[in-house]
Amino acid sequence: MALDNQLRDDAWNLYDDLVGLRHRLHQHPEIGLDLPKTQQIVLEALEVLPLEITLGQALSSVTAVLRGGKPGPAVLLRGDMDGLPLQEQSELDFASQVDGAMHACGHDLHTAMLVGAARLLSAHRDELAGDVVFMFQPGEEGYNGAGHMLDEGVLEAAGQRVSSAYGLHVYSSEYPRGLFTTRPGTLMAASDALRVRVRGQGGHGSIPHVSKDPIPVAAEIVMALQTMVARRFDIFDPVVVTVGTLHAGTRFNIIPDDAEFEAAIRSFSRDSRDRIVELAPRLCREIAAAHGMVAEVEYQAKNPLTVNNAAHTEFAAGVVRDVFGEDRFAPLPNPNPGAEDFSRVLEEVPGCYIFLGAHTGDDPAACASNHSPRAAFADEVMPDGMLLLAQLAIQALQRDATARASPPMI
Ligand SMILES: [Zn+2]
Ligand SMILES: [Zn+2]
Repeated sequence: MALDNQLRDDAWNLYDDLVGLRHRLHQHPEIGLDLPKTQQIVLEALEVLPLEITLGQALSSVTAVLRGGKPGPAVLLRGDMDGLPLQEQSELDFASQVDGAMHACGHDLHTAMLVGAARLLSAHRDELAGDVVFMFQPGEEGYNGAGHMLDEGVLEAAGQRVSSAYGLHVYSSEYPRGLFTTRPGTLMAASDALRVRVRGQGGHGSIPHVSKDPIPVAAEIVMALQTMVARRFDIFDPVVVTVGTLHAGTRFNIIPDDAEFEAAIRSFSRDSRDRIVELAPRLCREIAAAHGMVAEVEYQAKNPLTVNNAAHTEFAAGVVRDVFGEDRFAPLPNPNPGAEDFSRVLEEVPGCYIFLGAHTGDDPAACASNHSPRAAFADEVMPDGMLLLAQLAIQALQRDATARASPPMI
């Protein structure tokens, strides 16, 4: 049987195991960088496979290397493993058993599909021309798990630096079930946080002229930030600023010393991000100064832009079409305003991050989105997800080996 058909059969033969694994992970979500139970479940699932396994130091990551039967380059496949601090409100019989924690972003599917890809590829290691690095990553949801794994050498885990990297993200709404979609260039936003404290001078609410009231100044800054993004940024290269917290005061007739707020900032190009990093703090400081006050501003860079390499995106789309048919891939017209720390891997090596529709209802637009306590993800997409990961690895190794054998003419 041809390898492609064999892999497809193997993927569906693993279905029950993978669903069982995913449900187990779903019942025991863990948050952040330390996921001991998840790590244990993954290690058990990989136990019988011919992998070289390294565990993280700063986090409970699992890096597994599969040596191919023939020499060649190395490629990386990534799956994130952490849940979110949410109380699950689904009706699922495998709902979270942990109070206040839920796999609401589908990372349980990512983990299970990466285990599945490791199984598929292990069964065909003799045919592999090179090595595959499986990156099981904790702490995607705001903990920079990818950055920690890069610091601990995940890209060099095979003894040579990986030549490319791929990953999948499932969605419980938006995209039709079973559809793979991505785009070249910016796929996901850069995300930053702005923290501002306007320092006034408290006093009695009846005599504001002898105090410095920080509340109207903070309010003015909040409104001015919206004017700034609407008036100073190209509408085709937008920036989103959302003030998510705003706190000041204790009683209606007391002027407080301080007013504080925090904002989430998303941008979609390096140019816009460079400008907002400069403009937002300046706006805060100078409005406060205009009122005789000081704004203390902390600008915290979180995730960089997730940028897909154009050639690797074309390659990945081609693999989807070859393996599953033309109608299973659709180019994504606009970037997704979410952010991802796989961006850090794609800053280091070329590759592609791909979305996979996994809603469970009839209409993806009507389903609860990722990060909702009612988000639900379809088990049925997992065989195709793991098959795509395996095929990307096999074909990327072939492609990168050819490129290495015949370096471009200068
Ligand atoms: Zn998420
Ligand atoms: Zn996610």
